[in-house]
Amino acid sequence: MTNNGVGTMTLQLPECRDGLCVGIMGGTFDPIHLGHLVIAEEVRIQYELDKVIFVPTGYPPHKAKRKVTDPEHRYLMTVLATINNPYFTVSRVEIDRAYELTYTIDTLRFFNNYYQGKAEIYFITGADAIMDILSWKDYGELFSLCHFIAVTRPGYNLNIEETIGKVCPQALSRIEVLEIPAMQISSTLIRQRVVAGKPIRYLTPDAVTQYIYKNGLYRHARE
Ligand code: ATP
Ligand code: MG
Repeated sequence: MTNNGVGTMTLQLPECRDGLCVGIMGGTFDPIHLGHLVIAEEVRIQYELDKVIFVPTGYPPHKAKRKVTDPEHRYLMTVLATINNPYFTVSRVEIDRAYELTYTIDTLRFFNNYYQGKAEIYFITGADAIMDILSWKDYGELFSLCHFIAVTRPGYNLNIEETIGKVCPQALSRIEVLEIPAMQISSTLIRQRVVAGKPIRYLTPDAVTQYIYKNGLYRHARE
């Protein structure tokens, strides 16, 4: 734990050293669920990553239409969900900029500066997110800052060559596709089930379920 200078305790980032391989798992995590944890762990194992850093978004531009839950709640749920995996940690880099729109490019620039170019960075995304990448801010530069691991997700197609490759051929050498044990879970599904009074057990870790009920999250429909 370190103190970020404004009184908030934050988890430590992996130390900078030559040859370090880190995964960045970005998401709104509203709430975090087993789908997120499975993909992060699978990519970590397949790519022999030293650590995966979960980065909850501040206010994500693509979700501006929907009111996302307070960043501190999403951060704490992410910490609770990852606490028992020694290879997982959580960064506040976007949460601490939460009152402006946060862009992945800024986060990747932050980590590249932090690791002074010594670390290989693997950004983990689901099929839906990667297929949207041409709408992300400064997408051309994204591909020079990290590798993208695009994982399969039930209900979404991954035809990277036809879509992304046609517009941005240099992206193809930086995106790899990884097949993941399918998990048809989404944060939307969990929110809808809480509104409907249905159980969410086994969709997210127990500690997250308890946090949701204790804080009365998702009781009212917002979409
Ligand atoms: P929402 O329904 O609110 O959009 P979500 O479940 O899609 O939530 P996000 O926080 O938007 O979760 O997603 C973070 C990242 O995790 C994205 O790259 C997304 O594609 C990926 N992801 C989320 N759920 C799955 C899943 N079940 N399988 C594969 N990838 C997933
Ligand atoms: Mg999503």
